[in-house]
Amino acid sequence: MTTETALFTVRRAEAALTPALPPFGQFIGGTFVPSSSSETVDIVNPATEEVLTQVPAGTVEDVDAAVAAAVAAKEAWAAKTPRDRSAVLLKIADIIEANREVFETLEAANTGKPSAVAEDDISSAIDTFRFSAGAARAYSTLGADDYAENHTSVIHREPVGVVGVITPWNYPLLMAAWKIAPVLGAGNTLVLKPSEQTPLTTLKLAELIASEVPAGVINIVTGPGRVVGNRLSEHPDVDLVAITGSVGSGQKVAAAAAGSVKRVHLELGGKAPVVVFADADLEAAAKGVRSAGFWNGGQECGAATRVLVHESVAEKFTELLVREISEITVGAPGTDDAEIGSMISKAHYERVLAALDEVRKDGLTIAVGGRAIDGPGYFIEPTVVSNVPAGAAITSNEIFGPVVSVETFSTDEEAITRANETIYGLAASVWTRDSARSLTVPRKLDFGTVWVNSHLVIATEMPWGGFKGSGYGRDLSSYALDDFSRTKHVMYNRG
Ligand code: NAD
Repeated sequence: MTTETALFTVRRAEAALTPALPPFGQFIGGTFVPSSSSETVDIVNPATEEVLTQVPAGTVEDVDAAVAAAVAAKEAWAAKTPRDRSAVLLKIADIIEANREVFETLEAANTGKPSAVAEDDISSAIDTFRFSAGAARAYSTLGADDYAENHTSVIHREPVGVVGVITPWNYPLLMAAWKIAPVLGAGNTLVLKPSEQTPLTTLKLAELIASEVPAGVINIVTGPGRVVGNRLSEHPDVDLVAITGSVGSGQKVAAAAAGSVKRVHLELGGKAPVVVFADADLEAAAKGVRSAGFWNGGQECGAATRVLVHESVAEKFTELLVREISEITVGAPGTDDAEIGSMISKAHYERVLAALDEVRKDGLTIAVGGRAIDGPGYFIEPTVVSNVPAGAAITSNEIFGPVVSVETFSTDEEAITRANETIYGLAASVWTRDSARSLTVPRKLDFGTVWVNSHLVIATEMPWGGFKGSGYGRDLSSYALDDFSRTKHVMYNRG
């Protein structure tokens, strides 16, 4: 499809990416083994539409074998001291760092993301392992003491056991790292199912760390969510299942997990409001939305997708935002200066285009962008939808693409009420130069992370996770270690 304005075109790299592919098979018990099925899934480069390779379409039997390996490994891994587990996590970080280019190229080829995003993903994955290595040695609980007469209480922090992990496609290695590092740091073993679309960096990680991690501590099974993910969720020997994904998948995981009363850790979707008050630095806010709304092509659960701007500055702000977004460079991986790459898949590209068709059908104004860009590859123009009325579908549906909407409000109370009118509760931002507002408004917003005069800045030491439909459970920070541990109280009668 050719755009009317051709404001955006796709920059292409001179040479095709040549990623180092992982071995074929399921990673079970410390080695790659054949799947019980000969069926495979094509893994596609969404920026070129070329098939990169195939991976096994895993089965219930594959999951059962991987869980058995994780069960067999759990006692020895749990018995290790925090220092010894920490040493393994540090080694994993070092291996990723030593193979940084391998991971960056493979991630970019499998997701179509720009090099800058792939680089950031890999750096953050390394940092996640290093942080968890330290945090795992610094657990704290109530001190051993007498809390009942003549009885001394001791609290043990124990691993939960075997953890099932299900990851999405938007940050494949990073989302795996966000789980693997605290899950292992807390002394659990795991079976991880990557997204069926983006398993390559997770499999590459398994290949490169195989000799450093005891067999069975990490197991990877590729395949569809409804088979592999569902089996992990219902498996009686899996003690906790953690998923990062959409609300619908989270609901299915929680329902399947209920049968065995296992713990569930959910990091689900988002639709982050960006509340811009009249006293805000409008240029900074527009630049903030450019970077935080379009990072990873807007395929980001905390993306700054829904601007609520005070009516008195709406025109000025929209003008600044449209100027910023018009300057975005779209490019295939391997081009140095691309800000956004392709959508992850044909199916997702079609979903985002269908959402843009709805916007047009609703009679809304597309101030910039709004269309597909010439292929090959699943590229969509960075888009701003302006003058959006309260309650329009675009204000509540997670599009998960390069699309930002702008609506207005007239009072602080209205801004807060409308920002909270969403099923999601993952992240939000507030833009103001008024110190009282900067202190009161974040407290009234129902989101797990609220930035003030910023958006999408992540710190490994700080918890990440949502409220309401965005799920429960925390990634990053020492709270993630809490989520993957259990406490046991032992009370000694000294009488
Ligand atoms: P998705 O829900 O389609 O898939 C996520 C994972 O769940 C995949 O591995 C998939 O195979 C698996 N799955 C699907 N159905 C399943 C089932 N019935 N049982 C078990 N597993 C199943 O999500 P996606 O499209 O890969 O990722 C995008 C979504 O993830 C967005 O909604 C986004 O907001 C969310 N996300 C959230 C965070 C966060 O930190 N909260 C981070 C990244 C992405």
